[in-house]
Amino acid sequence: MANYGGQPIFILPEGALRTTGRDAQRQNIMAGRAVAESVRTTLGPRGMDKMLVDDLGDIVITNDGATIVEEMNVEHPAAKMVVEVAKTQDDEVGDGTTTAVVITGELLGAAERLLDKGIHPSVIARGYRMASEKADEILNAIGKDISMDDEKLLREIAITAMTGKGAEISKDMLADLSVKAIRQIAEKENGKITVDLDNVKVEKKGGGSVSSSELIQGIIIDKERVHTGMPKKVSNAKIALLDAAVEIKETETDAKIQITDPDQLQKFVAQEENMLREMVDSIVSSGATVVFCQKGIDDLAQHFLSKKGIFAVRRAKKSDMEKLAKATGASIVTNLKDLESKDLGYAKDVEERKISGDEMIFVSGCKNPKAVSFLVRGGTEHVVDEVERAVNDALGGVAAAIEIGKVVAGGGAPEVELARKLREYADSVGGREQLAIGGFADAVEIIPRTLAESAGMDAIDTLVKLKSEHDKGKTDTGIMVQDAKTGDMWKANVIEPLKIKTQAIKSASEAAIMILRIDDVIASTKKGGMPPMPDGGMPGMM
Ligand code: ADP
Ligand code: MG
Repeated sequence: MANYGGQPIFILPEGALRTTGRDAQRQNIMAGRAVAESVRTTLGPRGMDKMLVDDLGDIVITNDGATIVEEMNVEHPAAKMVVEVAKTQDDEVGDGTTTAVVITGELLGAAERLLDKGIHPSVIARGYRMASEKADEILNAIGKDISMDDEKLLREIAITAMTGKGAEISKDMLADLSVKAIRQIAEKENGKITVDLDNVKVEKKGGGSVSSSELIQGIIIDKERVHTGMPKKVSNAKIALLDAAVEIKETETDAKIQITDPDQLQKFVAQEENMLREMVDSIVSSGATVVFCQKGIDDLAQHFLSKKGIFAVRRAKKSDMEKLAKATGASIVTNLKDLESKDLGYAKDVEERKISGDEMIFVSGCKNPKAVSFLVRGGTEHVVDEVERAVNDALGGVAAAIEIGKVVAGGGAPEVELARKLREYADSVGGREQLAIGGFADAVEIIPRTLAESAGMDAIDTLVKLKSEHDKGKTDTGIMVQDAKTGDMWKANVIEPLKIKTQAIKSASEAAIMILRIDDVIASTKKGGMPPMPDGGMPGMM
């Protein structure tokens, strides 16, 4: 509400909520920190799992930061920005989501203390930006080179990524498969390596043991052929991908047809049959021997297709269709009449096989040799879900390592070193920004602190010890969580891609800065501008 010449002017709709200044900052910081706090205990090999139950009663048990924050259905706008951090980390690296979220929370916490000291948010934001840029430089200097052919080291990266996740029992074998998959899809161009993670299709199937997971050259589709009369296996398959129904469309409006004599009925049925036959003829004349259809296939059309010896699948997922297009070189056709032989893709074999009592379709020997599938197995649905997340972390970690070509030791060692170097930098900067950079340094230490706590060690003593080791030049000293002591993480083979660390710092600082700069929250509905809970927590918070 503004006041103009004694006349109140309403600029916001009725019921709008507005919070300004310190209140707005405090609430946003609190909400952001609450998200971070909720995932903090899952960090590291001794991290705990969370059980999430949605409104339908479906259960997810996980240790994965991105999954947790996503499943929480966070509503507060500032908290949502922290959830975005996890998503970005997941998209950019595929691992390190908890790390990124936890650092964001600590950056907000440090900012709050600085605000309390009367430092202006824009000064903090500037200091954070300086620290974040410096951090990138420092981390790059710590990073050690890795080549795509260093399979042993890549394996350690995959194992580190999976440690503490549900994949623990078979992680050696899953690590081997992950390295193999990524090395296969990596592309080298002008000395630069790129990995398109879309080329690995991770498909899960409950039943069987984790150790029976396997790598398949080609694409696996969790579907069965539509008609048992169709061949189970087609060799030298010419594959049509249809985003069109092989059915007769029902009329949009309710129409009534009055049939007065049996002849008419006969004609009507025959006409429908003819239309379906024409559709199947378009497929046959294109030369296709396999059809993946994103929509439905009419029973009669199934029968016709089966008579022609064509292998057909209906209601394939859009993402599967895209993967198939990429792997087999087929184009997805949206109008059956347009289907031509040039639209068809190729695979050496298309075969339906039974996995734990369920049919799955294996498309192997694809035109594009880079297509691989990772078939993840595991006793129960919840196990296989968590193993799948672990495998995704491993794939992301290995891919990030060979793309950037640099790795660091883990276990909190890089964060201790980063904090140390940032403090040196802060001293050289001086001014009020110095305090913000110092706060940034404190914030990244949350990683070793949390790892120490999870190992049951005294966090303060451990940090003091780590700092003194680093001062002596032992920059790889970190926390051997499983042995509850400090040690050389590189020698302990706890290795991570550098990108996990650089990306986490980048997204965390960007989100923290963005949240800090807000001093006015105007919510036009009650929902968006949720007031803080009296206990400082958020509704639905663990
Ligand atoms: P994120 O989602 O951030 O990847 P994780 O739960 O995977 O979270 O934990 C990652 C942290 O655990 C990293 O700091 C990593 O260095 C550390 N870590 C992983 N394995 C070990 C290990 N064996 N010993 C000590 N620290 C480890
Ligand atoms: Mg991880």
